[in-house]
Formats: sequence, C-alpha cells, structure tokens
Amino acid sequence: MPDTTGDIAESHAVPALCANIIGGKIHSEGERIPVICPETEEVVTHAVEADEETLDLAVTTAGNAFEDGAWSRAPMEHRQQVLERIADLIEKHQEELAWLETLNIGSPIRQSETRHVTRAVLNFRFFAEYISQASGDAYSQQADYLTFVTREPVGVAALIGPWNAPIALTTMKIAGAIAFGNSCVVKPSEISPLTAFRVTQLIHEAGVPDGVVNLVNGRGATTGAALSSHNGIDRLSFTGGTATGRAIMAAAGANLVPVTLELGGKSANIIFDDADYERALDGSLMGIFSNNGQQCLAGSRILVQRSIFDRFVADFVSRTKNLRIGSSFDRRTEIGPLATKSHFERVLSFTDLAREEGCEILTGGGRVEGFSKGYFFEPTVAVTPRNDLRICQEEIFGPFATIQVFDTAEEAWRIANESEFGLVSYVWTSSLDNATAAHKAIKAGIVLINTPIVRELRAPFGGFKESGVGAEGGAACEAFYTEQKTTVIPVAKPPLAKLGSDAS
Ligand code: NDP
Repeated sequence: MPDTTGDIAESHAVPALCANIIGGKIHSEGERIPVICPETEEVVTHAVEADEETLDLAVTTAGNAFEDGAWSRAPMEHRQQVLERIADLIEKHQEELAWLETLNIGSPIRQSETRHVTRAVLNFRFFAEYISQASGDAYSQQADYLTFVTREPVGVAALIGPWNAPIALTTMKIAGAIAFGNSCVVKPSEISPLTAFRVTQLIHEAGVPDGVVNLVNGRGATTGAALSSHNGIDRLSFTGGTATGRAIMAAAGANLVPVTLELGGKSANIIFDDADYERALDGSLMGIFSNNGQQCLAGSRILVQRSIFDRFVADFVSRTKNLRIGSSFDRRTEIGPLATKSHFERVLSFTDLAREEGCEILTGGGRVEGFSKGYFFEPTVAVTPRNDLRICQEEIFGPFATIQVFDTAEEAWRIANESEFGLVSYVWTSSLDNATAAHKAIKAGIVLINTPIVRELRAPFGGFKESGVGAEGGAACEAFYTEQKTTVIPVAKPPLAKLGSDAS
C-alpha cells in the first residue's frame, strides 16, 4: 500500500488557462487541450492550441521585436542584468514551479525542486555570465589588412521541447537563444505546458521586452509542424524523439534553417569488477530510476562483468524492490507515476516483449498495486541474453532496466556501441586503462566515468548517431544562435588596380 505519511509539498495555484503569450499579451482563443495530472488522472487546466494564424502572429511578432532592436541591440550589460533577474524570479518561485512540474509530469517533488528548477535557474545565470566572456577573432597575418570576426544574433529561434523535463530543458533553449540577442517562439509539449507558461510570465516580469519571448501551445502534429516549417524562423532547436527529430529536420531543411536535435538514447552503463562497488550500484540506480526513468540519458542497458554479475544483480534487484513508490508530492518519494496514460501503456508493453524475447524479469513489469488512480509503473529489472533484442535496442523511457553480462572490455565496448543511439555512456572502473579505453572506444556524445550524470554547461551536450545533431552548451549555443561576420579593413593603402583608367 502506498504510504502517505511523508512531508507533502505545499500546493500552489494552477494557471486557469495555459494561453499563448505573444508580444507580451495573452491570446486565449483556440482549441482547448486538457492538461492531466498523471497521479490523479484529473484535468487540472487547459492549454490553448495555437492555430496557424496564431502561430504566424507569434513568428512575425518575434521577427518584429528582433528588428526593433530593444533587445537584439541592447548593451550586453543590460541583457546580462535581465537574465540574472529571470534567474532570481525562478529561484523565488522555486517551490511553485517545482510543484507545477510535479503536478504536470509526475516527477518526484524533490527531483523537481533540486534538479529541474535548480537547473532552470542555472541556465539563465550561466548565459548571463557567458555573454560577458564571449569574444571574437582577429587575423593580422596579412600585413596590409586587419581581418576581424564578430558574432551577431541570427533573428528568430523556434524552440520545441519535450514533456519529460520541461522547465530544465526549455529554459536551456530560451536562455541560450535570448542571451545572444535573439527573439524566440517557444513550443512546449502539449502534455506539459504548465511551467513554460509560468516561466514566460516571469521572463516578462524580469524586463525582457514584449515580443522577444513568445509562447505557443499545441500539438506537435499541428502547432509544432507549422512552427518548424515556418519560413520566418532562422534557427530551430528541438529536444524530443528521434522520429520527430527527423520530420522536424526535413521541414526546417526546406527553408535552409539550421537545427540542433537532442534526441533519444539507450545508454550503456558498464560496471567492471574493479569498480567501487557501492558507488557503481548507487549510480546505476540513479541512472535508470531518476525522473521515473523518463530521461534521454537513462543508463538503461546495464552491462556487468561476469565475476560480479550475480552479486550485482541480487543487490540491484533488492534495492529496486526497496524504492519508495508513492505520491510525487511526498518529499520521500523516489518513484512517481509515468507522465501519461498512453506512455504508461507503451512502457507496459515492453514487459510482454521482454518475456517473448526470452528475458527474465526479476522484479516489476506491471502496474503498481495499491493506487486507485495514476500511471504508476513498477520499477523493473530484466536480465537479457543478448543485446540485439528489441528490449535492448528500443528506448523504453521508463523505469525499466535491462542487465546483461560481459567478460572483456572489448566486449563491453562492442555491446555499448551496438545501438542506433549514441547519447551517453557510463563506465564504472578503478582502472585507468579501462577509463581511457572507454573514452576512445565508446561512440557517444558524453562518456561519464565513475559518476552518474553531471551537467557541465560549458561543455557540449549532444548525441552521436540517431541521438542527435549538434549540441547544447556554452560555446555550442553561441555558435548556433549567432552568425559569424568577417570584416576586412586595410591598415595601409595597398595598391589597387585602376580599372577603366589609362593607367590600368
Ligand atoms: P516527441 O518527439 O514526441 O515530442 C517532442 C516535441 O516535439 C513536443 O513538443 C511535441 O509536441 C513536438 N512535436 C511532435 N511532433 C512534431 C512535429 N511533427 N513537428 C514539430 N513538433 C512536433 O518527444 P517526447 O515529448 O515524447 O519526449 C521524449 C523524447 O525526447 C525521448 O525520445 C527522449 O529521449 C527525448 N529527449 C532527448 C533529450 C536529449 O537531450 N537528447 C532530453 C530529453 C528528452 P507534442 O508533445 O505536443 O505532440
């Protein structure tokens, strides 16, 4: 039975309507999309879908704000102060925003507070600092000329985010885009519009001029598709599934709009027998079960060296059975509900698939008993005989770990790379040789050695293979959200041909 005796987070007001925000004004006309709490299965509010006309207005408004220059040509110090103010306001509203995120997607409240909202604050603080350090290039090798390279904002960025960590991921895009002077049109997932709506309000309160940050809600197939194919956008940054990423890149490509795509993953988590065992166990549990397993960077394929395999599996299963499943509003809860009913059913379908493929499910695999409502899925551990099974190749995006055995380092690298994805890889070892070999052998954008995820915003975060195109991070965002301009000035008076004169 779920235990409800813990420290329950205080509740907050839910926006009566997650309307579109364009040019600083609320636009509430349009089809209403219900927003459902995954724990109570109740409709908590509605989002207003932006139809093509509303979407067009948002893009045009963003373009006009960019041309107007109040933000795009504002002194760097001003943008810096406003970004800091946004961070302060998010911090001030931390409890409310964390509560809204939990209400909307079911992430355990402590994770919403300490990871998601904290990251949102950091995103704005980071870019506030970054822009004061950004520099251009100069070339003086040609004796008669000085050539310098500066960066300019590009214009309008379309920012499309997923539902699994909306505030953390969407604010990375907004902060990265506006820090360099761009305007943007933000589209959160129709499933999770709550925090994007409140953050957009706070952004205006902080003093970002109207029209610089515009929010449109709606379904991916309608509003999202219209935004990605709009010819008024100059950049498109997307985080979501690989299939959607493909469609978005094709749509943006028709207008020659550059994209960054942060896509899915099926990351290997490799544990050698020389690893710090306890840390490897703790890190592996965090790697798959944080955020209810709904993480692109989940360490969902656990590979364990043979000599410690039985011990590790026994301990991992025992700790998994011990995870505190409960109301996500309870600060002690470690696993809450999955974000939507359809996602719950999809994750559940992998249980049958695992059995059909000959895997042994050691714990979990079904609905958690004792809850009359909510999309609670049991934390699940399956031992798999081979890596080429669908269960090891497809992103499940839930609290569902597969475990397989390996003998040698070379075998571990081969299994890790035997995937269409290449986002993250985790390696637990005390051997420097294994660590350096992992760095060289693993085909993934991020290799984490002896640690669960650590997000260093200065460094690029992006996937290899079908996990993405481009990256997010300090320099990566600067390169993406700015255009380089090369200017050449003669520093002497080098001779010029005199075309059309008698001297030519
Ligand atoms: P989706 O790809 O379903 O959706 C992502 C966003 O795209 C949503 O806002 C969605 O809108 C929108 N969208 C859907 N179809 C279209 C379309 N044709 N044109 C334009 N926009 C569209 O992903 P999920 O929201 O389900 O997110 C989970 C996925 O995101 C997982 O695969 C996960 O791995 C990945 N992800 C990757 C991360 C990374 O950094 N690499 C980080 C986090 C998640 P709507 O939802 O309203 O339909």
